[in-house]
Amino acid sequence: MPTPRLLLVAACALLDADDRILLTQRPPGKSLAGLWEFPGGKVEAGETPEETLIRELREEIGVETKADCLAPLAFASHGYDDFHLLMPLYVCRRYEGIPRSMEGQALKWVRAGALRDHPMPPADLPLIPFLTDLL
Ligand code: C5P
Repeated sequence: MPTPRLLLVAACALLDADDRILLTQRPPGKSLAGLWEFPGGKVEAGETPEETLIRELREEIGVETKADCLAPLAFASHGYDDFHLLMPLYVCRRYEGIPRSMEGQALKWVRAGALRDHPMPPADLPLIPFLTDLL
């Protein structure tokens, strides 16, 4: 059996002043379309996960943050059919700008206790208890 391709994706629980978490919806045409996820994306060659998140938060939702505003919280490891996903989850409370949809995707602020009401990719589900414990 071939070794599965390893994919590193960085994800961020962006919090508002009421400790609600921002979810973004995967758009039609993408894998796992319609599912809700924490903003973030693939860690490109030469990037740290923090650099990825700074870039992705700017590109996806138009907010600016810094590496020292990103606190690592948990790590997801999930085997999909064609690759294995490793995904650190960071928490970010300090950023500039009001999150807005830069790529046409739906955005939603959700309380930690309501995350389970939103269908999410299987890799993201084990991260939820870390957020309910924290918040
Ligand atoms: O977002 P992107 O399509 O670049 O992510 C690559 C893959 O990582 C997705 O196809 C999906 O299977 C997985 N993923 C995930 N949970 C996320 C983000 C991505 O399972 N929050």
